[in-house]
Amino acid sequence: MRLVLVGPPGAGKGTQAQFISAHLSVPQVSTGDIFRANVSQGTPLGKQAREFMDAGDLVPDDVTVAMVHDRLADEDARKGFLLDGFPRNVPQAKTLDGLLLEMGTVLDVVLELVVDDDEVGRRCGHSWHVDFDPPTREGICDNCGGELFQRDDDQPETIRHRLEVYYVQTAPLVGFYAEQGILVGLDAMGPVDDVTDRAIASLRPFSRT
Ligand code: AMP
Repeated sequence: MRLVLVGPPGAGKGTQAQFISAHLSVPQVSTGDIFRANVSQGTPLGKQAREFMDAGDLVPDDVTVAMVHDRLADEDARKGFLLDGFPRNVPQAKTLDGLLLEMGTVLDVVLELVVDDDEVGRRCGHSWHVDFDPPTREGICDNCGGELFQRDDDQPETIRHRLEVYYVQTAPLVGFYAEQGILVGLDAMGPVDDVTDRAIASLRPFSRT
């Protein structure tokens, strides 16, 4: 299955991406994770991306698209993938359609994680301590089941800006994919496991195996 996850920062996208890709046995391709790995290794790509990430802005499309192009050409992504964090705007989505066309394939489904705005702020605001107050499950808040972050771009100002960037640049993808008839809305409120179960159930009709 070739799948894209879309949702605002703090909707639990990274966590769901992990569980859903494991369930579908497809690689999880998270552009944010790839950028972060490059930043921490100090690669040229990381140096290019860092200032945009720290500001909560999108890394320029040419840089991002080249990275995704290379990743999708890897052997493990030939039969399917789950894209998390890409595309992030309509131009990236159009480029992705072109890349897939070259590969002789198309996206099967786009899953939109739907949460209310309050929840987004609340989840983003959660904090815990790695050593003194760790959550029961790594990366998941014991209180609300939301995704936990420990990132340089998690300062309150930057969170607000990333939300703005999401609504202005990324949210139009919902209409773009609805028009293609491949958008599925997922109620992403509530405990993580329940959301995963709902996600898997809603993807079943799109499975080709
Ligand atoms: P994420 O972990 O998906 O929230 O991504 C963290 C940061 O990486 C974002 O705030 C952007 O700066 C950058 N990033 C991730 N994916 C993309 C993308 N598809 N296009 C541009 N920038 C991206």
